[in-house]
Amino acid sequence: MAKSRNKNEKTYRQLKKAHLWGLIVQIALFSVCATILLATAGTVIGSYILDSKLSTEYENIKYMAKLYEAGISKDDKNIVDLLTKEERDYVITDSDGKVIFCNGKNTVSEESADIRLSDYEEDITIYRDSEAGYIHVNPVTGGIALDIKEYREWINREEVDDEHDAISTMANAYIDLPVWMSIDVGNGEHFIGKARFSAGKHDVQMVMGIVIAIVVLTALILTTMFVAGIKNIVKQKRMISLFFTDVTTDGHNWSWFVVKGEQLLRRGSTAKTDYAIINMFFVNYRNYCICHSVVEGEKLLCDIYKTIEKSLRKREICAHASSSNYSLLLAFSSETELKNRLGELIDKLAAIDTDHKLCFQMGVSHIEKEVDKNGRVVKRRDIDIESEYNKALAARDSLNATEESGIAFFDEKLIEEQKWIDKVQEKQQYALENEEFKVYYQPKYDPQSSTLRGAEALIRWDSKELGFVSPGRFIPIFEKNGFITEIDHYMIKHVAADQKAWLDMGYECVPVSVNVSRAHFIENDLAEQIRDMVDEIGTPHKYIEIELTESAFFDDKKAMLDTINKLKGMGFAVSMDDFGSGYSSLNSLKDMPLDVLKLDAEFFRGEAEDERAQIVVSEAIKLGKCLNMRIVAEGVEVKEQVDFLAGEGCDMIQGYYFAKPMPKDEYEERMQKQ
Ligand code: C2E
Ligand code: CA
Ligand code: CA
Repeated sequence: MAKSRNKNEKTYRQLKKAHLWGLIVQIALFSVCATILLATAGTVIGSYILDSKLSTEYENIKYMAKLYEAGISKDDKNIVDLLTKEERDYVITDSDGKVIFCNGKNTVSEESADIRLSDYEEDITIYRDSEAGYIHVNPVTGGIALDIKEYREWINREEVDDEHDAISTMANAYIDLPVWMSIDVGNGEHFIGKARFSAGKHDVQMVMGIVIAIVVLTALILTTMFVAGIKNIVKQKRMISLFFTDVTTDGHNWSWFVVKGEQLLRRGSTAKTDYAIINMFFVNYRNYCICHSVVEGEKLLCDIYKTIEKSLRKREICAHASSSNYSLLLAFSSETELKNRLGELIDKLAAIDTDHKLCFQMGVSHIEKEVDKNGRVVKRRDIDIESEYNKALAARDSLNATEESGIAFFDEKLIEEQKWIDKVQEKQQYALENEEFKVYYQPKYDPQSSTLRGAEALIRWDSKELGFVSPGRFIPIFEKNGFITEIDHYMIKHVAADQKAWLDMGYECVPVSVNVSRAHFIENDLAEQIRDMVDEIGTPHKYIEIELTESAFFDDKKAMLDTINKLKGMGFAVSMDDFGSGYSSLNSLKDMPLDVLKLDAEFFRGEAEDERAQIVVSEAIKLGKCLNMRIVAEGVEVKEQVDFLAGEGCDMIQGYYFAKPMPKDEYEERMQKQ
């Protein structure tokens, strides 16, 4: 349970985080790529321009270097004059770096320049010119110009009559940068010639154009990515809300409830208020859908959700958990206050549709506060909403399958009960196959003569694991899970077999009644099933009586009447069990042609001399007699009651006064005594 809770919260957090991180990672990755791209493009373009601009200069210097090299090898002293004629500044250094010859001013700097001619890299080294001015932005044209000092001087020339002309002329040659190229001429000597790197308006425009294009492209891609990222975030947000939205009510769903509930409990745990988790079940939803339509049913679910939502206070939540279930997390100060509040909510919900009786059942689980060893309330750490909700469900289940509204609080006993139900269900089949179910017989005596007139077969479970279990602890479970049908068959077969054996042994047998559950009575071939089972063993039908509990008569009356008539026609006696414990006993008596009337034990629970009770019992006996029924009084424990019943003409008494239910061999002894 805790695992699935964490999973829910994890999914939520992942969904929340994923989009942000996704966008950040995307943009970071792209920025790195764009930087690399820009740097590469810059280098390539730079090299291209440098190459194209300096290659002619390089060829000239190379020519001079070759000239010098040839002159030296021929020991030609005039070579220097020849080089000077080239009108280019140059420096020739020996292997120690000392200047041998020099033309013009030696401004070659020590450090190598950034400029590299890509094609000639291995042959030459390029140096900065130490006197080269800085590159400035032209304040007038916005272009780049070299050496502002030189530029000013140039502008201030006397021949310049039109300053504007001068600027535009200058703008045509924005950059003029002196660089020195060094070429190895052998013997460790180097010919270092001064070249000029100049870039014109078009070059600058081209570079600027490319840079702008790359920048614009990058910005465009970044914007696209950003927009896509934002769209993604919106999409994710929609996904989160879809993940947490209930499609029927448009409200919150169970997953949301788990995540929000846990957050709420974690934060609100130090507060003085208590929290309770509530399962609210809309009892008539299915019927409502059948009688109207699913669409109308869903509309009702929606209205219910809205009504619950409206009743919430601050720091309280609700969700539509599943078809007819809602979950609520409410704060409260006392159980009475909470109960009253829930009662009011049930009234409000019932008022949604006054044409129908809407019923709501609520199971409440009080979420315990977490305390430290000093008893102080601390922040909750381990919250498991789902197991708390299960407790609320168990509490609601304890309200049984009634069609009434109700509220039940969870109690640890419910867990014990649930565990017991689980255990019983786990063992039931094994018990049946291994004959762990035992038939006990409770004799019925004639109160006048104290002779044995009949018996009722009652089941006991002698379980290897659970011990000796009385039917009250497992029959209701079997009735709920349907296993009761197997039990009824088992009992009929065993009683028929016992009776047959006793008859064969020459005992004077009396009819034994077997309880048949109401769940069984919906099968329309029940009478045939009973007949076949008994006939297979070969027991005469008059020795088997079928007991039907009074409440079973509420179900399909016609089917019931059919089965009773069939059973009677086959020679089985049929009795009405627990007469007087239900509501419509008299009605059932009117409709059903029964053989035996068993007065409920409740009639004999009070004082034996209770006059009113005596009147009721006396009249019931008379009524049964008038309808040609035999009367059995159940649960009779004292002599006064036996005497009274004998006086009233009751046919048989089944109670502790005569005998408790007993194992087969003990009952056999009783028969023998007769
Ligand atoms: P029931 O059919 O009304 O059975 C009578 C119950 O009253 C039995 O309880 C019996 O032991 C008890 N009883 C009889 N005389 C007295 C008395 O003088 N004083 C008191 N206090 N109790 C008396 P038991 O055997 O525990 O059975 C309880 C219920 O379990 C039965 O009520 C019946 O509804 C169900 N049950 C028992 N055996 C079977 C079975 O084989 N099949 C089905 N379907 N239900 C069974
Ligand atoms: Ca019975
Ligand atoms: Ca009974």
